[in-house]
Amino acid sequence: MKYTLLFFSLLLSAVLAPNMTAQDALNAGPTDPRIAAALKEVSAERIRANIEKLVSFGTRSTLSAQDPDSIAKGQGIGAAREWIKSQFEAYSKDCGGCLEVKTDNFVEQPADRIPKPTEITNVYAVLKGTDPESAKRIVLVTGHYDSRNSDNFNVTDAAPGANDDGSGTAVSLECARVLSKLKFPGTVIFLTVAGEEQGLNGSKHFAQMAKQQGWNIEAVLNNDIVGGNRGEGQDAGVVRVFSEGVPAAADDKELKMIRGLGGESDSISRQIARYVTQVDRTYNPGVRPVLVFRLDRYLRGGDHYSFNQQGYGAVRFTEFREDFNHQHQNIRTENGVEFGDLPKFVNFDYVAKVARLNAAALASLAAAPAPPGNVRILTKELQNDTTLTWEASPLATSYEVVWRATTEAEWDHRQDVGNVTKASLPQSKDNAIFAVRAVDKDGHRSPPVVPVPER
Ligand SMILES: [Zn+2]
Repeated sequence: MKYTLLFFSLLLSAVLAPNMTAQDALNAGPTDPRIAAALKEVSAERIRANIEKLVSFGTRSTLSAQDPDSIAKGQGIGAAREWIKSQFEAYSKDCGGCLEVKTDNFVEQPADRIPKPTEITNVYAVLKGTDPESAKRIVLVTGHYDSRNSDNFNVTDAAPGANDDGSGTAVSLECARVLSKLKFPGTVIFLTVAGEEQGLNGSKHFAQMAKQQGWNIEAVLNNDIVGGNRGEGQDAGVVRVFSEGVPAAADDKELKMIRGLGGESDSISRQIARYVTQVDRTYNPGVRPVLVFRLDRYLRGGDHYSFNQQGYGAVRFTEFREDFNHQHQNIRTENGVEFGDLPKFVNFDYVAKVARLNAAALASLAAAPAPPGNVRILTKELQNDTTLTWEASPLATSYEVVWRATTEAEWDHRQDVGNVTKASLPQSKDNAIFAVRAVDKDGHRSPPVVPVPER
């Protein structure tokens, strides 16, 4: 009797999914105490100091001064760039040289918003993974350190850019500071780019370089306008996470498959967006991600798109409600209304919470095993069940199948299938979207991979 029961319960757990609620399924990730401790180190005060320092350079217009004199005087984008570099170097010194601080430097030729050949410099720090194979897997956080005022071509008047995008730059810096104290099997890159306001020039160059050099970037988190502007209508309890549906880089064959199978909401970028909600439920950083299933806001663009165009999964974090009087504006008061992107409109506690959410996502991804490779769903025969196969992920000790109804936004079922590379479930593949993720011995989870049909 006892053995029958035991056998039955094993059978249940192996074959039938326990009926978990959506929230249970997402909330199931165990907390990594090292990551939780690092998140506590994120400081709103440091973020405030960093944003105020960025504002002190007067303007960070990509077209502004970067000659040695201006750098020495602390004015213009050149001074901002040198200061960011010095910050990364200081963090590296504190962790025994664990960060490699680098620049990606190029001259952009004249275009609509670039009147003359202009040097653009991306500054970044690399926290290299500890496992030789996993170190090739990269997760990246970015913000743009350039700013502008009302006139793109005005390079002398103040362009404080405290929120746009001092806040995102501060997130990259603070993530570097707190995560450099940890070690992960995967690599983390902390990036700050320029030329965003001229047409995403910096990120475009960086993403193209990554693609050309064959970098395996698994996720890009772009923070742009995460200052939590203190105006009316703001919801400081949430942050929007934008993600593309149909990938910009999909070829005709991929588009045909997306159309045929209802894959419009299962791009790599969207899996990263869903991963962020999972991380939020695990670490509770104090700001809830609100997933927005579109590339970006109307008439607006951002650096994540540069990575999407190269086929990388990338999402954008932006505060819930933007105040356009405090973006791209000369500092002035008109009819009692204050204009200008000044630090006094930034909610530094909010930026710190967004930084915690980013750091939690970066750390969880870098700690996780690689996603399972070559995930397939068997469709050779007409059957009312679902069989999935995949290639083992080196650091994984088990795998989970997750699924949701085709009309659901987030994964709401999961089943641990053990350390195998094939699993069958009694649910019909025609009624749900399935995916497989790799799990390591400590419960770190990879992003789930949606299968390709095997005919
Ligand atoms: Zn921006």
